[in-house]
Amino acid sequence: MRTHPKSAAVMLLCLCASLASARMRPASFYYTPDYLALKKQIMEEFSHTPPGKFSEFIRRRPPDPGTGQKVLALTFDACDGHLRDYNKALIDYLRAEKIPATLFVTGLWIDANKKTFLELAKDPLFEIENHGLQHRLCSVTGRSMYGVRPTIGLGGVIDEMELNARKIQELTGRRPVFFRSATAYTDELSRKVAQRLGMEVVSYDVLSGDAMRESARQMSRNIINGARERAIVIMHFNHPEWPEVQALKLAVPVLRKRGYTFSRLDSFTLH
Ligand SMILES: [Zn+2]
Repeated sequence: MRTHPKSAAVMLLCLCASLASARMRPASFYYTPDYLALKKQIMEEFSHTPPGKFSEFIRRRPPDPGTGQKVLALTFDACDGHLRDYNKALIDYLRAEKIPATLFVTGLWIDANKKTFLELAKDPLFEIENHGLQHRLCSVTGRSMYGVRPTIGLGGVIDEMELNARKIQELTGRRPVFFRSATAYTDELSRKVAQRLGMEVVSYDVLSGDAMRESARQMSRNIINGARERAIVIMHFNHPEWPEVQALKLAVPVLRKRGYTFSRLDSFTLH
């Protein structure tokens, strides 16, 4: 994936950790004997693996294969900011327009919105994926971006990925297959850990601009101009005050006219 010129502005993606931190359960709250055995095993397996490159786009896709598949995956994160809230108007719009979407949720957001989470997970229009237990940036060396708290060591990366995967599976019966690190930055070793745990790291191709507080019109332009075959668009669904609905109301008719359809990410074959 190319580096988006506006990617620095992702700084606002998830800057609201303080509220969550105050009532956050430690990862050890979720430790079970079988989990600890798995964690120990994986830590041994990767003990000599270097961290590798640190990047927002750690998973490189080959250039567009030119398949002519004008399909977009709209993805929406729920981080840790507005813990007890979600953008109901956005979800209602997606349902009314029958637009499939992929929702990346943290364990923090699930805990604060259990009823909503279960309701969304039951709807086949939506795919639930993993945004980490505590919205930590996954870096085995503790690198941070935009002030978002990183994981501590390899063990912290495993906690962040696996404990939320288990939480989602326990509540929905389906284990997530994709993982998006907080801020989308991560390192190569974390990607290998995710793969060892059965998940592929996902970033994005099209930055909608919602986290940079861009207007609905600008967001719609970002989405329309960034659209290409099988592109992944990043937005959020935990800020009801952000204009994702208005942006999509402007962008979707244009995209449909240009032949685009929308699909859940799990229907994509990722490389
Ligand atoms: Zn996030």
